[in-house]
Amino acid sequence: MKKLIPIAALVIAMLGSANAFAAINVITSTQDLASIVKEVGGDRVTVESLAKGYQDPHFVEAKPSFILKLNRADLLVAVGRELEIGWLPPLITQSRNSKIQPGSLGYLDASQNARILDIPTGAITRAMGDVHPQGNPHYWLDPDNGRRIAQRVQGKLTELSRGDAAYFAQRYADFDRRLADATRRWKATMAPYKGTKVVTYHRSWPNFADAFGLDVIGYIEPKPGIPPSPAHTLDLEQEMKRQNVKIILVEPYFDLKTPNAIARDTGAKVLVMPPSVGGVKEVNDYFQMFDYDINLLVNAIKEAGAR
Ligand SMILES: [Zn+2]
Repeated sequence: MKKLIPIAALVIAMLGSANAFAAINVITSTQDLASIVKEVGGDRVTVESLAKGYQDPHFVEAKPSFILKLNRADLLVAVGRELEIGWLPPLITQSRNSKIQPGSLGYLDASQNARILDIPTGAITRAMGDVHPQGNPHYWLDPDNGRRIAQRVQGKLTELSRGDAAYFAQRYADFDRRLADATRRWKATMAPYKGTKVVTYHRSWPNFADAFGLDVIGYIEPKPGIPPSPAHTLDLEQEMKRQNVKIILVEPYFDLKTPNAIARDTGAKVLVMPPSVGGVKEVNDYFQMFDYDINLLVNAIKEAGAR
């Protein structure tokens, strides 16, 4: 007995210390959020995204493994604004994890402080297509919103692990400073091309266009979430010719058939531009996404003589 007691005490002490350093297990809906959680959470979190950046975040195929991941999560971070409404809510229910249910401590809607565009006024009808009543959910594509997401994440991680408050605050401050520097650089790079007219496939880019001075004059989708139609495509081509639009932005998960046909008819150039971290293999974090997209855009604008 005399020998067992110190060993038991040692085991308890080890478990206790392991617990003290146990990372917060975070699951995010998208890789953009995972990147920001990593920035703020550092080594005090483990983080994994359910959706991959090359998938359409509106329509993610739910895998059984998602339920297991959600079951084990301490925190779920979602984009919100109904982006994930088609796939995430049933998974949260099936996870049987009371910690991460909406309204619980372990659920974070990352959009709450963000600047949200395209908030519809008046009644929404089915005829409008897949319009989000809470505004455009692609808000992470403005770096200022990336900062606001990080702020929310800092607050939530601090709530979940009070002892790490100073660590999260320092990580947030560092992210904030690097993001401010990068944003100045991105805006300076884009400044000569302010007002460049583009067409985009889906309505993914209002925040990006607003931040970097693009003018989105039309969409390949006749309405959000509705596939291209010949009549709409014809109207769009006429408008592109009238306004001399030379750039078409296509998210990596859309079929290139219609964009390529429009490009042939109008002399415009198709750019497959990722709106998310993980959208292409070169883009592994939130900074790389803007680096990649802005570089792609500037080269195409120069080449097309779109200004
Ligand atoms: Zn959308």
